[in-house]
Amino acid sequence: MMDSDSDIYKTLLESTRAIPWKIDWATMTFAYIGPQIEALLGWEPSSWVSAQDWAERMHPEERAWAVDFCIAQSKAGVDHEADYRALCKNGEYVWIRDVVHVVRNPDGSVDSLIGFMFDISERKRTEEKLLGLQKELEELSYKDGLTGVANRRRFDAIMEIEWSNARRNKQPLSLVMLDIDYFKQYNDHYGHLEGDQCLKLVAQALGKAATRARDFLARFGGEEFVLVLPETDESAATKIAERCRELIAKERIPHARSGIIPLLTVSVGVGTMIPGHGDEPLSFIEAVDKRLYQAKQRGRNGIVAAG
Ligand code: GH3
Ligand code: MG
Ligand code: MG
Repeated sequence: MMDSDSDIYKTLLESTRAIPWKIDWATMTFAYIGPQIEALLGWEPSSWVSAQDWAERMHPEERAWAVDFCIAQSKAGVDHEADYRALCKNGEYVWIRDVVHVVRNPDGSVDSLIGFMFDISERKRTEEKLLGLQKELEELSYKDGLTGVANRRRFDAIMEIEWSNARRNKQPLSLVMLDIDYFKQYNDHYGHLEGDQCLKLVAQALGKAATRARDFLARFGGEEFVLVLPETDESAATKIAERCRELIAKERIPHARSGIIPLLTVSVGVGTMIPGHGDEPLSFIEAVDKRLYQAKQRGRNGIVAAG
């Protein structure tokens, strides 16, 4: 015996992965829901009675907007789709995309809604994974791979922000720039891998030098580090520079080829300014770098601040 057309349609509808449904607009009740719903969410088809059941089996975070959105679109007679988490009988949630067609009466009023629910949890999982990876990548792109402290890019970005903060609030901004003494000789003597370990130790030690929330440490270049100290005057910044030297001294990292003492030391430049109009962060950085160079010239293992 031949199937009737409606039997064929029913078979087709109930064998797709998308779950068909129909809501009668006047009574706000389900006229139909595909039996596949039970496999996906655990609720029997007969338990889908009113639109209320649909709303209640929705994650509270999406419920308000999804219900409001679907009702508004339906009233306006506009086909639409909504993504939301549907509640399973076992208490878990599944991401659903509900695609809705509004069926209208000849007079234009809404007769019913027919739609398909698609299981999009796989897609959502992929999206979340991608977002996580993106975030991780973003963090990595701001982090120095060797020492784990912020990198030069991050320093540039932070410097821009703190520079305009300081200018707007007329607050002093300080920089402490440090460069390891005779590091080339360190590498030559102990090897590059040992040199890398040494850089990690130095970064770790310097991480303890400044403690205020907006104080910021970065690896500026090869064996150079920089501290950005907002709302810090020159005498406070110089004290932090002293602490940096002490923290590194405390590590007692042997350096047999140092020209000064057989321990690893750093030279430090300190500078402070209240940025005004026409001042540029770059020339400030250069001025502090010059002091660092002076510290080298004066015999290393020392600090040069104002003057
Ligand atoms: P000065 O006291 O004047 O600062 O002398 P220096 O030898 O420290 O300075 P110089 O700039 O001549 O050498 C810096 C050295 O730092 C050279 C380079 O091989 C080493 N260096 C830079 N980056 C790294 C790194 O990531 N790992 C290691 N192991 N060494 C590095
Ligand atoms: Mg250097
Ligand atoms: Mg050096």
